[in-house]
Amino acid sequence: MLKKSLGKESLCTHSGALKDNIYGGAISPLYLSTSYDFRDEGPNLYPRYFNTPNQKSVSKKIADLEFAEAAMVFSSGMAAISNTMMALLRTGDHIVVQKDIYGGTRSFICNHLEHYGITYSFTEDLSVSAFKSCIQSNTKLIYLETPSNPLLKLVDLKAISTIAKFHSIITIADNTFASPIIQNPIVLGIDIVVHSATKYFGGHSDISAGAVASSQLMIDKIWHFAKDFGANLSEYAVWLLERSLKTLSVRFLAQQNNATKLALFLDQHPLVEKVYYPGLTTHKNHYLAKTQMKGFGAMLSFDLAPNLCVASFLEALQVIKPSMSLAGVESTVILPSKTSHALLTEQQRASQEIKDQLIRFSSGIETYKDLELDLQLALEKAKK
Ligand code: PLP
Repeated sequence: MLKKSLGKESLCTHSGALKDNIYGGAISPLYLSTSYDFRDEGPNLYPRYFNTPNQKSVSKKIADLEFAEAAMVFSSGMAAISNTMMALLRTGDHIVVQKDIYGGTRSFICNHLEHYGITYSFTEDLSVSAFKSCIQSNTKLIYLETPSNPLLKLVDLKAISTIAKFHSIITIADNTFASPIIQNPIVLGIDIVVHSATKYFGGHSDISAGAVASSQLMIDKIWHFAKDFGANLSEYAVWLLERSLKTLSVRFLAQQNNATKLALFLDQHPLVEKVYYPGLTTHKNHYLAKTQMKGFGAMLSFDLAPNLCVASFLEALQVIKPSMSLAGVESTVILPSKTSHALLTEQQRASQEIKDQLIRFSSGIETYKDLELDLQLALEKAKK
């Protein structure tokens, strides 16, 4: 049995691994079976019950990485988020939500919760007092995402979890952008952590998955709902996810290293108007980032100078790919105004500082100088 006191790299590599008792193979065997002997002792194994050998294996690794008692893996980040919320909320409940969260999560909350008689309040102000002022007598849950997408804003997880506990409110934090390598919300008092495992957990832009980690009691509640809603991940993808998680720490730290250097490079560049990265001393939440995280992450955003053509900038990139998702080993950029925030009105985007010139950059593991040169040349070519 592995100890949780092991380093993150050791947990990534070994935690939860299944033993190949027949051949002694070095990696977890893949059990593709959807049918198991019902006469065996213990619960019946079935993929939709989230209890097959490979699901148990990867869940253990994720739970250990998040310092949680238990975890479950889903078919997407949104499946993890929606199943978790629906498992815990009842008609008449109210939730408090940070306004600048992933667009899909906001869409789930705004499009579906009211049909079940669940109300919500969004807070644009991310201060602890703003969250506190949204709490009502029927508030059941506070939903957070930090750092947030795309401006890398932070919320104070410890302070908000303290207030929530005082009011017996459950807290959920989306830890996708930070990853458990640099941030562990549960250690800071948060009840439940959710992930789009499609991002850093998968890391190679080839798996759609989600994860939730929490206490055994909370995971049991989520399981009770999720087993009937059927959003389990296919066994092969589960196995691939376990394989990918083995390199999570080394990938993430290499990506973060590139992001930190690029943030400094872009911050001093005359063709870049503003850089959003928690590692910059100019970032509004720099101090909080230093205390709450063990690094500043591998995501950053920046506004191109007004005299630059965004389309020409994207066209000129040779190494960095304009691509929808994030967190893969390859560096990618997207335009939030045309993707994640495209459905907002111009005014709504302006109120959230999402400019048409805003580029969100997901740092990969390429050689640093190649990324810097790619950005330098693209910035030059984008001059109108
Ligand atoms: N949370 C965050 C922060 C995300 O960026 C995303 C997707 O981009 C999700 C959740 C949803 O994850 P998925 O696309 O795997 O459903």
